[in-house]
Amino acid sequence: MRGRTGYRNAEPYLRRDFGFRCAYCGVHEQTKGGSQAFCIDHFKPQSKGGPINDYTNLYWVCIPCNIIKHNKWPTSEQLRRGYRFADPCREQDAGVHFIESDNGLLQPLTPCGEYHIATLRLNRSWLQQHRRDRTQKWTRLNEAYQLRDELKHVIQERPTDEATVTMQRLLSFLSQEIEVLRNELTMAIPMWQSKEHV
Ligand SMILES: [Zn+2]
Repeated sequence: MRGRTGYRNAEPYLRRDFGFRCAYCGVHEQTKGGSQAFCIDHFKPQSKGGPINDYTNLYWVCIPCNIIKHNKWPTSEQLRRGYRFADPCREQDAGVHFIESDNGLLQPLTPCGEYHIATLRLNRSWLQQHRRDRTQKWTRLNEAYQLRDELKHVIQERPTDEATVTMQRLLSFLSQEIEVLRNELTMAIPMWQSKEHV
């Protein structure tokens, strides 16, 4: 990677290394309509002395996060007080610098978390709603798994008759719906907190 735009050659590697998600808000490319809604961000901005073609300074991010972050970087006074960006490549951010509450709001635990959330506006309404939806889907998925297991058990325990055939059709329908929900959740923002997952 050389010159002013050499870093763009890193795109396929960055996409893979960041799991096709925004390094800051965690949104998956597919949720935003594909990779064209994403771009390469210099974690430490070039205008603040960040290297232009150093792979470790390049992050794969959604365009809204990139625009919001722009060339923001903490002042030396802020740095002294611990106000800085959490670096998802070098440290655990979720659970250490911030946690997610049930209503989808990210809450800071440290000055770093406070700076990170506020500067990147990680509680913007779309993201909050997206996290809330994802949490509700997880709950529904867990309920669906439980129902499926109960239904399976009932079918196994009873003699085969007309009602059993209907139950089997229901079971097959439920299994298909579970698959749809599971695929949707694969594209959701990863859970920030450690929750009971399926
Ligand atoms: Zn983002």
